[in-house]
Amino acid sequence: MCGIIGIENNKNASTLVSAGLVTLQHRGEESAGITINGKYGMQTFKAMGLVSRIFGEEISYDKLVGSSAIGHVRYTTSSNSSLINAQPFQINCIHGNIAIAHNGNITNFLKIKESLLKKGAIFSHTSDTEILLHLIAMSKGCIQTVIENSVRKLQGAFSLVILKDETLIGVRDENGFRPLVLGKVKDSYILASESSAIEVIGGKYIRDICPGEIIIIKNGKIQNSFIYKKNKKQNTCIFEQVYFSRADSLVFEQTIKAARVKMGEYLAEQMKNIKADIVMPVPDTGYFAALGFSRASGIIFENGFIRNHYVGRSFIKPSQNLRALVAELKLRPISDVVTGKEIILIDDSIVRGTTSKVLINSLRKTGAKKIHFALSCPPIISSCYYGIDTPKKENLIAANNTIENIKKHLNVDSLTFLSLQNLVNSCCANSINKNIFCTACLTGKYPTKISNNLSHESGSI
Ligand code: SF4
Repeated sequence: MCGIIGIENNKNASTLVSAGLVTLQHRGEESAGITINGKYGMQTFKAMGLVSRIFGEEISYDKLVGSSAIGHVRYTTSSNSSLINAQPFQINCIHGNIAIAHNGNITNFLKIKESLLKKGAIFSHTSDTEILLHLIAMSKGCIQTVIENSVRKLQGAFSLVILKDETLIGVRDENGFRPLVLGKVKDSYILASESSAIEVIGGKYIRDICPGEIIIIKNGKIQNSFIYKKNKKQNTCIFEQVYFSRADSLVFEQTIKAARVKMGEYLAEQMKNIKADIVMPVPDTGYFAALGFSRASGIIFENGFIRNHYVGRSFIKPSQNLRALVAELKLRPISDVVTGKEIILIDDSIVRGTTSKVLINSLRKTGAKKIHFALSCPPIISSCYYGIDTPKKENLIAANNTIENIKKHLNVDSLTFLSLQNLVNSCCANSINKNIFCTACLTGKYPTKISNNLSHESGSI
């Protein structure tokens, strides 16, 4: 999972990109980078860790002088966790200096990489994004033709911001898996993964970049914008709304917060026969669904967990045993909220079930009388190949167990998943066409062909 942002025609480009990256930090805490084009030419600065620690502390803003910049935050699996795969990637090729920041996962990259290797290409990263650098370097024509011809060869998920001198280019794959939005601050255009990153720097959201669109921006003007590849159906990731995107970001004409409140309202309808003393969220993503549940059911909303904000994702490298320890450190129940209560506990989803088991166990130890566990999405039964780091199918609890078995394993009194129809209705309440989502991890129906040897450890997620 990654967050990307780009801005042009602004003397404060690096500061604004860095502020945007802090806003997108939830999309990746592992590494961050900024490429700036200015009086020293094009330069890229990147490091492992959080944006606020890297820029201003490790890398001084005095070095980041220029009027066009792109930025990237990254999260991926531990095996791929190294500075060499941090983005943006910058190259010097026949077309000059070009930098790219990518969110998504290119599903045919192994095939393209193999054919590039046969032609003598040299690879220095393990990220899928690197193939795009080679395709660009080998293409002929103006920058628009070069980008168009290169991205036409890609399959899978890719939202891109590209910097070529002072020109900012945005690309979204024809399925529109990952988000990319356009905004404006004064005379500068901004491209970003989420609208909240535009608003935080004083800009205004204009529109989503369409699936299959390329947009070219220079000197505060949109030079061109066109659909390079049409698709019969849009397949935007529904999980962005369940979990990944920030609650204040806009998607399909409503905030993510509004969608999550609706998920909670639908859950309350599905669970109308269950009585409880309180409804409480698993922080943070369960918060708005619990609020919606409380409003719809009349059951009191309570915050029953204290969150330790000093335990980051990268604090301990992921492994099954240590995940449980991280969950224990992160969230602790508040006894006077929980003890003796019949609780409706709301979380966004169950992946492996490790975190949920730890949390439920801690609630039991604190004296909860009954626990009804509710999830604001259906069971996750398949892996994602489009840029979300879900584990392999054998590690997904819902792919290998019945609901009854999961209920017993978690030691809860009832277990309810939001129905797919109710999830879709929540996510596009203002849209007539509801057939616009990828739901592959919930249904096993993938909108694109998936190569058998595609690994979760190779993507630029
Ligand atoms: Fe999103 Fe799931 Fe589709 Fe991946 S498989 S893009 S997580 S809906």
